[in-house]
Amino acid sequence: MLSPPANWLPQAPLEPLQLDWLGAARIEVAILRLDQIDPLISGNKWFKLIEHLNAADRAGAEGIISLGGAHSNHLHALAAAGKRLGFATVGLLRGHPQQTPTVKDLQAFGMQLHWLGYGGYRARHEAGFWQPWQSRYPTLHPVPEGGGGLPGARGCMQLRAQVSAQLASIGWSGYDGWWLACGTGTTLAGLVLAEAGAHPVYGALAVPDDHGVAQQVERIVEEAGETRALYELFDASRGGFARVDPALLEFIEKTENASGIPLEPLYTGKAMLALKQQVEAGKFAPGTRLIFIHTGGLQGLRGFGSQH
Ligand SMILES: *Cc1c(COP(=O)(O)O)cnc(C)c1O
Repeated sequence: MLSPPANWLPQAPLEPLQLDWLGAARIEVAILRLDQIDPLISGNKWFKLIEHLNAADRAGAEGIISLGGAHSNHLHALAAAGKRLGFATVGLLRGHPQQTPTVKDLQAFGMQLHWLGYGGYRARHEAGFWQPWQSRYPTLHPVPEGGGGLPGARGCMQLRAQVSAQLASIGWSGYDGWWLACGTGTTLAGLVLAEAGAHPVYGALAVPDDHGVAQQVERIVEEAGETRALYELFDASRGGFARVDPALLEFIEKTENASGIPLEPLYTGKAMLALKQQVEAGKFAPGTRLIFIHTGGLQGLRGFGSQH
């Protein structure tokens, strides 16, 4: 069995977030702490995996094979889930063998690793890429990079219920929208599906505009047969994915000190800074209540300092 038992993973806590720039604009924000769901498995990547694990179960698979980089939050969540739930995992890695904190964890969690080089990894979208791997690991179910697509989005739909169940505990009777970091847009698409037009979902793009996030979201929404899609995307990439500048780092440090909430510079830090910019530009009327999703990613931060 790859599927986790119902209620296996604890609920992500929902907490009020107080920051001076929010108070000044009279915007209320509550943060859904996906970084706090489990000591091993954290972030949105876990939710993106759920339906892939269910599909693997239905197919009678004994484990999962997937791919990612040497700091991949996706492979980390997958390997941790395999360890926790007791199924086999194989990771196909971009580049050449290196020991990052993430890679050490993957090995410690029992994931079998294969390094594809850079050219080999680029071939991942080509027809026939999976064929040799499926011959080699016939009992493993392949999951696309990052756990994307409609199955990935469906797993993220349950974030809405997690928030609804906790609103009363923070004294809210409702909310006006969601704010979260986007890479592929899969997590955002899941919220768009769950909301079905009830509330807008605002996506802070961690990748430049030309990465086709809007098209990816449209594809998922269309495949799900949903017509009531309410969302808006903002460029939060600051010039490129994983590009970091002193103003961003300073903002993250200030925010962490003021709130006690850890952020990383690739996704959550950029998403928070983009929110500040939109709040200060008057995007939201006073009294607006937003749910900010902390999508996790803190494990990847360990390898980050040494690279930059
Ligand atoms: C992968 C990731 C995202 C982006 O999720 P998508 O579903 O690809 O948009 C955001 N934040 C963190 C921390 C991530 O690891």
